[in-house]
Amino acid sequence: MSVKSISVRRPLPTIVFSVVLSLLLSGCFRGSTPKPSANSTQPTRDDHLALGNPSGASLSDPENYLLTKSTYVVSYSRQRGIANWVSWHLSTAWKGDARRANDFQPDPTLPPDWFAVKTSNYTNTGFDRGHLCPSDDRDGSAADNTATFLLTNIVPQAPRHNREVWKNLEDYERELINGGNEAYVIAGTYGTGGTGSNGYATTLANGRLTVPASLWKIIVVLPTGSNDVSRITNTTRVIAVNIPNTQAAADKNWQAYVTSVDELERLTGYDFLSTVSGSVQRQIEARIDGQVN
Ligand code: MN
Ligand code: MN
Repeated sequence: MSVKSISVRRPLPTIVFSVVLSLLLSGCFRGSTPKPSANSTQPTRDDHLALGNPSGASLSDPENYLLTKSTYVVSYSRQRGIANWVSWHLSTAWKGDARRANDFQPDPTLPPDWFAVKTSNYTNTGFDRGHLCPSDDRDGSAADNTATFLLTNIVPQAPRHNREVWKNLEDYERELINGGNEAYVIAGTYGTGGTGSNGYATTLANGRLTVPASLWKIIVVLPTGSNDVSRITNTTRVIAVNIPNTQAAADKNWQAYVTSVDELERLTGYDFLSTVSGSVQRQIEARIDGQVN
């Protein structure tokens, strides 16, 4: 559809028509809103998959469908209507004073014939619109913050889970960043069925939006620097948690839910930290870290 694709052998009227069509399709004309017909891969400003693509997400598998944003990367499940995981790099470079956008919206980059979750699908369900990549990790600009409100980054989360135990871990991540570190974070969903403020549910939106049974997260912490993957060693701090998606889960703090990356790999079938050497993976994936400095 680009102007470059016009053949030199075509007659002039065809060329003019093609150019006009191209301009219309590219949204140059006022009022024409281009609708991406497929997952438009955006350039990322950061390497959110520096530690690997845990499930080998790609554009060919609807259940492990790769959504590449400039702000984070997603593996999405069409069947479940939620992410399998979201991966992002967190550093002070992403922080600023943009206000919370709160503009939850369907992800326009999903294939148009797929069901795209709407914000109203969460209304009065007893579940929060819970971020995987948090709003507060992306407040360097209004656009970055808005990107976290795409509903492919959001899952049905028990309100107390979202506002207490999960939030406390998010806050702790940012404390680490403010203390001279950067982090690679992978957050995901596991299983089906959670307990919100209206009780237990397996799905919302007439079965098209799955309530996950738990939310898990892996945080790899590095002192701020460059060549990050090569700096990961046997002593690198890796925090892993798996927290049931229930109101009662918030009766304990996140340290009560620490686990190992090995355990999350067994549970999910994914290979986390796959770009790290095998010998280092074996060490840091077996360890359980709940230390708070
Ligand atoms: Mn949240
Ligand atoms: Mn691994």
